[in-house]
Order: sequence, then structure tokens, then C-alpha cells
Amino acid sequence: MPPNRTIRNYRLFALTLGLALPFMACAAGTAGYRFPREPGTTPGGYPLPLSGKPITKTPVISTEGAAVKEYPEHYIPGQESLADNEMRITACGSWGPAPLRIGQGASCLLVELGNGDVFIFDVGGGTVGNLFALGVHPARLDKVFITHLHLDHVGGIFPLFDAMGWARNTPLHVWGPSGYTPELGIAAFTQNVREASEWHIQSKQSILARGGMTIVPHEVDISKFSPERPRQLAYDENGVKIYAFPVIHSLAGAMGYRLEWNGRTLVYTADSQPSTFEAEQGKGADVFIHEIFPSAEEFAYYNHMPIQAAEGVMVEHTTPAELGRVFGLAKPRLGVGMHFTLDDKLIDPLFERWRTTYNGPVLLMQDLTTINVTSDYIVVRQTKADLLAWPAIPPKPPEGVDMSPGQPSKAQRPSWLTETRLQQAP
Ligand SMILES: [Zn+2]
Ligand SMILES: [Zn+2]
Repeated sequence: MPPNRTIRNYRLFALTLGLALPFMACAAGTAGYRFPREPGTTPGGYPLPLSGKPITKTPVISTEGAAVKEYPEHYIPGQESLADNEMRITACGSWGPAPLRIGQGASCLLVELGNGDVFIFDVGGGTVGNLFALGVHPARLDKVFITHLHLDHVGGIFPLFDAMGWARNTPLHVWGPSGYTPELGIAAFTQNVREASEWHIQSKQSILARGGMTIVPHEVDISKFSPERPRQLAYDENGVKIYAFPVIHSLAGAMGYRLEWNGRTLVYTADSQPSTFEAEQGKGADVFIHEIFPSAEEFAYYNHMPIQAAEGVMVEHTTPAELGRVFGLAKPRLGVGMHFTLDDKLIDPLFERWRTTYNGPVLLMQDLTTINVTSDYIVVRQTKADLLAWPAIPPKPPEGVDMSPGQPSKAQRPSWLTETRLQQAP
């Protein structure tokens, strides 16, 4: 087994140890597939987080008169193919702005299209285990669109980058903002990630293929945004257009994305203050995914910080009532809140506040919520993932990719040390 084939996702590891083992004794016939918590609902009738149902009261939205395909109760990776006109969006992480907890990775979406294309939006800490559990070969998880460089949106880059020798021997492509100055942009970030991996790469380059350990940045020049040019085309291939647009969040350079393909539209605005501008960018979306925040008092409590600090954080984000106003302007078929601290007690208050300004269909994202989208309907379910899933079996490279190793590093260990190694048993 190659040395990097270790369990690298600590959340998955903890779930496996803490939750999977007790269940295994009583879950005959479903070995490996389970949800962390028992089914249940809040007093207001919303499914409890991590209990196997999506947190919404409208899991099926259909166009008038249209037939809705009957899906299995849960999405099980590898057991469903997409129709030619279908989009599937899965949350690999749903938390922020804190980095990671066992039940919630930070921000990350996997978007799969009926034409076979696959895209990742943000790759926060603790999300790559979920990504790898979704049945997509890691060699195809090579297009990442970063909204901004807060670590809850990019903290998972290392395990995604580390495809060395077993999955991807082609570059990882990363789109993102150019930054106010070069060191604040995506090119500097990806270069730093590559350079920080030098010891890792040299240690394996004579044993494993190293071609995958490169990152190609694709910068969106933020200086070119203006009222006359509110969005820029960042990606245009195979019938897929992905536009970037600026949002109001922290420093210059935070962006949202608008993916258009085959009549379907996904808009993803990660962290941002609510604005008429982003509502404009979200118009016509099938699914509009936007951050949503608890109150400053709740945020202070859950993050152990003074209320003044929590209020300072809140300024950069969006309350449920404000998000309702944004959705009221954009009018998506499904409005989604994400980046929320999931807790049983916060669910009902969140929806009560959200409903003061918006009555359309809404969903609160949790990890592994899956949304199937066609022109006729939108269906939301939870993914039933194998906690011990190994990425896309068998892991083989795409055709034509050279997976041969390179030359040894010069950084060899001194002989006086290696000569002390215990002799191997006969
Ligand atoms: Zn964030
Ligand atoms: Zn942020």
C-alpha cells in the first residue's frame, strides 16, 4: 500500500470510530451505509441535522403539470446515473466560518452535469473525504472554483492536491480571484500550496507518479469588474459557462459564481453581505446557494467569543431575514442557505426569521445534501455514503496519462543513519 493511502480525513476517521462500530452490530444488510443520528424532527417539523433527511419542508419542487421521476429515498453514490439534461449538486461541506467539526465540514460543493462534467466550488477543511465518497474518480476532481481565500473555503486544498501516484497525474486547475495585490490572489495561493508540498513530492517522486502534483491557477481579474461589467466569463467549455461576479465580503476579491449549462443555472454566493447586486446575479437561477448566519448572540455563544466580536463578524455576513429579501428579488426555484452552524435548537428560529421575508421553497444545507435539478423538477435528498468508501474503485488513471515515477530526490538520508536499520527478518 502506498504510504499516502492512509485515512487522511479526521472527521471521517472520528465518525468511523465513534459511530460506525456500534451501528455495525445492528445494521445487518446495510453495512457501511448509515447516518450519524437517529431520525427526528424539531418542534417546528424540520428534520434534525444529520438524521438522514434534508432540512426542508419542500424536498420536491415540480413545474406545474410535469412528472417527477421517482428517486430512491436516499442518494447512494454509484447507483444513479444522471439524465442528459440533469444537474446534481451535493454539499461536501456546509459549515463556516469556523473550520471544521465532526458533523460538518467547511464549505464545499460538488456539481455533476448530465454531460459528464464535474466541478468543485470551494474546498474547505474536512470536505475531501465527502468528495471522495461520492463515487467520482479523483482524476476527474480537477476543476475547483474558489470564491475567496478564507480558510473555511480553501482549507481542504492539500488532500485534494495530494493525488500522487494513485489517482491523478494531471494538474489540479483552480479558478479564483486575482486579489487587490498579487499576494492576495489565487495564483500566489496555489504557488504557495505547491511549494509547501516540496518535501512530500520529493520523498515520493522516484516511487510514484508526480505529474498530479502541479496546480494551474486561473485568475479572474477583479479590477475588471464594474457596473458595466458585473460578471466575467471564467470558464467556457463543453457547453458549460461559469461566470464570476464580485460580492461584498471582507476584502476586495471575494466572488460568487453562476454556472449555466443546457438551460440549467446554479448560482453560488458563498460569504457575502446581502446586496441588490448579488440578487441581480442570481436572477433566473434554478438553485441559488447563499450563506446564512445565526444571530450575533447565537454566534457568540457557539463560538465562545464576546458579543462585540460576534457582531463584527456578523457585519460581513447575511441574516436569514436579509437572505429572504435577496431571494425575493432573485426568485430562484430553490433558495438554499449554507455556511450555518447546525444545531437542533437553531433550526426553528432560523426558519422563523427566514420566513419573515420570503415564502418561496428553501433548504438549509448540511453535509451530503444532494439536489437533483431538471427543467421539470428539483428533488432534495440526503446522500447515504459509505463511511469507509474509498475513492472511485478501482482507482485507475484516465487513458493516455503517464503514471510512471521520476528520478530520486537528492535529499537522501545519511548512510551513518541508514546503516543502523534493523536487519529484515529472513
Ligand atoms: Zn466562510
Ligand atoms: Zn469568508
